[in-house]
Order: sequence, then C-alpha cells, then structure tokens
Amino acid sequence: MPLNFDLHAHSSVSDGLLSPADLVAYAAAKGVNVLALTDHDDISGLPAAQAAAEAHNIALINGVEISVTWKKRTLHIVGLNIDPNNLALQKALALVRIARDERAQQMGEGLAKAGIADAYQGAKRLAKQSIITRVHFARYLVELGLVKDTKSVFKKYLVKGKPGFVEHQWMDLQQAIELITQSGGTAVIAHPGRYDLGSVNMLQLLHEFRSYGGVAIEVVTSSHTPPQYQQFAKLAHQFSLKSSQGSDYHGPGISFMEMGRLADLPSNCVPVWQDWPQFQSMQ
Ligand SMILES: [Zn+2]
Ligand SMILES: [Zn+2]
Repeated sequence: MPLNFDLHAHSSVSDGLLSPADLVAYAAAKGVNVLALTDHDDISGLPAAQAAAEAHNIALINGVEISVTWKKRTLHIVGLNIDPNNLALQKALALVRIARDERAQQMGEGLAKAGIADAYQGAKRLAKQSIITRVHFARYLVELGLVKDTKSVFKKYLVKGKPGFVEHQWMDLQQAIELITQSGGTAVIAHPGRYDLGSVNMLQLLHEFRSYGGVAIEVVTSSHTPPQYQQFAKLAHQFSLKSSQGSDYHGPGISFMEMGRLADLPSNCVPVWQDWPQFQSMQ
C-alpha cells in the first residue's frame, strides 16, 4: 500500500491548535504514515512529535516553515529533514522570534489606536507559550466579537492599510534556503499559489529559488485548487524541481482540509521524498 504523506502541518508551538504529540496522534488516526511538523520559525516541538510518532508507528519528518520577504511580499519556505540540533538554524530562528514579538507589539499598538486596547495581551494569552502570529490576533478579535470569523478579521484589521498591519522585514530568501540546506534539509516553497505573484514574478521566484539551492515546491496543498495542482506540477517540471504535498493543517475546525485526504501528486511529478533513503521505493 502506498504511504500517505503529509509534509506540512502546524502544532500549538506556532499557530496550530493541537500539541505536537496530539497532532501526531491525530495524523496517525487519519491514516497519515509520514508527517512533517513544520511550525512557523520554531522547531521546539520536534522532540515531542518524534516520540509520539514512534508510539503511533508513523514516520515524523523534522520540519520548519520560515517566513521570508521577497519583493516586499511575505513567502513561506518549508524545510524538510532539517537537523533540529543545528546551531546556525536555532540561532537564526531565535532572532526571527524576537522580531516576531516586536511586530506583535507594534500590531497591538496599531489596534489600540483603532480602539482595541488589549490586543497584544489577548493574542499573547491565546498563543500561550508559543510565538504570536497574526492568527492569534485574528482569534482574539473574533473572541471579542468584533468580527464573525478569522477570515474577516484579516480583511478588516490585519492587511495592508488596516490598523493591525505592520510592515515587517522577514529573513531573505537566500538565507532561509541556505539555513535549511546547511542543516541537512530540503527547501520547499510552501503553497506557491497563495502569493498572487503573477506569472513573471512566479518564474523569477522559481529561478532564484533554484539558484540558491531550493529543491521542491508544494504542488498539492489545501491552498491549491485541482487546476493549480496541474499548473504547479508543470512549473516544477519546467524548473526541474521536485514536488511536495501537505495539508497545512492547523487543527480541528479551523483547517481547509482534513488530514489524510490529500490528492495524489500528478503523475509527472518527482516526489520530494524520492531521494530520502527510508522512502526510496515509494515513488
Ligand atoms: Zn504557510
Ligand atoms: Zn503552514
């Protein structure tokens, strides 16, 4: 039976709802055999996820999702099979988290000016011990009853031109790819269809990504429509990039897609796991 891969998922270490161990248990229950935990800018959930994976008899891929700024846009680069003990990666991510907290404070100040006094505290409470993301702000504003769902919060408060928007400089693309690669990992462009780049920028992005050592793009993800699976499979082929698949799962009730239900990669794709020793026969 072919393995069921899900190479993009979040735990409560970033903006997911389930703890790393619960996420792994959930994935296993949904039939996933190979799961990557890819929390935003934080790899501290990996040991607990690894232990849970052994208990549930599934394979856990050590992952991370790094935010980068490219042409004034925020893109996400997933690192798969990174070494969680790599010092350069740990240090760089620690700096990103400090900058993230500064951004969160500025978002709080912006929202305070719009009459929402305690947004930073509220988001911090919802984030518990983890990094504060825009999703935590969104959940807090929904909790206050200001908007009906997190999607409308983004439109009304958190995008460019709105009070909670803060221009933020993330890591640059080359640095993120190099950090991932130097820690033994594979760099993957997360959900490329979500960036609304236009075809010229998309081609340039893929070209640059590859020239810095990027290896794969997500073709099948909950952010893509089936026609986009074909579109990105074609681009992957054109740029000799491998293809990845992941649900980008964030937790029960708040995700676009249930775990374990991803479509197969289009047949012309080279799976990102093709060269991974433990899955070499699974192509
Ligand atoms: Zn992402
Ligand atoms: Zn993600």
